[in-house]
Amino acid sequence: MFSQLKPLPTDPILGLMAAFKADTNDKKIDLGVGVYKDEQGQTPVLKAVKKAEEFRLANETTKSYIGLAGNLEYCQKMEQLLLGDAHPALLADRVRTAQAPGGTGSLRVAAEFIKRCNEQATVWVTTPTWANHISLFEAAGLNVKEYPYYDYDNKGLLFDDMVNTLSQVPAGDVVLLHACCHNPSGMDLNFAQWQKVAEIAKVQGFTVLVDIAYQGFGTSLDEDAAGLRHLASQVDELIICSSCSKNFGLYRERIGACSVISKDQATADIANSVMLSVVRSIYSMPPAHGADIVNTILSSDELTAMWHQELDDMRSRINGLRSLLKDKLNDKCEGMDFSFIERQHGMFSFLGINKEQIERLQKEYSIYIVGSSRVNVAGVSKDNIDYFADAVAAVTK
Ligand code: PMP
Repeated sequence: MFSQLKPLPTDPILGLMAAFKADTNDKKIDLGVGVYKDEQGQTPVLKAVKKAEEFRLANETTKSYIGLAGNLEYCQKMEQLLLGDAHPALLADRVRTAQAPGGTGSLRVAAEFIKRCNEQATVWVTTPTWANHISLFEAAGLNVKEYPYYDYDNKGLLFDDMVNTLSQVPAGDVVLLHACCHNPSGMDLNFAQWQKVAEIAKVQGFTVLVDIAYQGFGTSLDEDAAGLRHLASQVDELIICSSCSKNFGLYRERIGACSVISKDQATADIANSVMLSVVRSIYSMPPAHGADIVNTILSSDELTAMWHQELDDMRSRINGLRSLLKDKLNDKCEGMDFSFIERQHGMFSFLGINKEQIERLQKEYSIYIVGSSRVNVAGVSKDNIDYFADAVAAVTK
């Protein structure tokens, strides 16, 4: 049976990671993979996480299963982190959450849940979007279509075109929005634009899925969720897929959550039973470690304060690098304007250079960027920023 299989190409980002690893140039820079890096190019374990892990090691009493929805205290803490403590949807008991293996796991749960609601549903994603969105929804057997989002020419949003397309999406379909720090463009909706999208969702009756994988990496924990919270206050139904990979630095622990908001408590209970049945048929129960760490941090004022500080530090570093990168590139690359880098949020921006220039960066300078020209701003440091800007200037001359 296996001999019928045809080999598949390596995922471009994973291929890039392997090529970077094999490169012996000590000036090499990896701007491909989407993980936060500090000034030393490391992705360290947060101190708050280490403390929580020490606590867990000392106090864990069993390795028995944790149940389909996972750690219920974690689920509740995540709802509060996402929506704020006193959100009307929480007060009305309309939210149900299942812990999931990473943001990706939560998206797969959401995909199967959508399929149980409407097998014919089309999921609408931004052009462009995180590549895995498309394969993930298609793998679940759903149709995927794109709506205009990033304006490659003007390095902004195609908001009017987005509005036009969304105004034709019917009830029964799902529109996926990135809450903040859009991957791959870094270009986010402002609050007025979120309000407009909420109006369209109400008129059209489609369901919105908000993917929030970078809460706290843009402006602040609250501001990064402001659009999501507004939307949740306006519509009857909403799906939220969240990830703790980036903001808690828990990437390999695979911790996220899928939250479903329904029109009333009774529907929420039914939706919850369906979501848990989906979980049962995919992985039965989620892993315990990551949820326990997040719950321990969010249950302690001291650890929460420590985490807030560490998250602020990561965000400040990214935003500082955005300003510096803009200045250096504008200085060194004559006739080019990189001011968009400072207007965007999170780790990613498109440099807007072509394939040949990207290849030259890799071959001649050992600078690794994915083919779309998306760069992970956190991959730059004060030590290599001049080398990087000089290289970009050289290949774009
Ligand atoms: N959504 C988006 C937009 C992402 O960028 C990512 C991670 N790259 C995820 C979801 C999934 O995150 P996780 O690693 O937690 O599965």
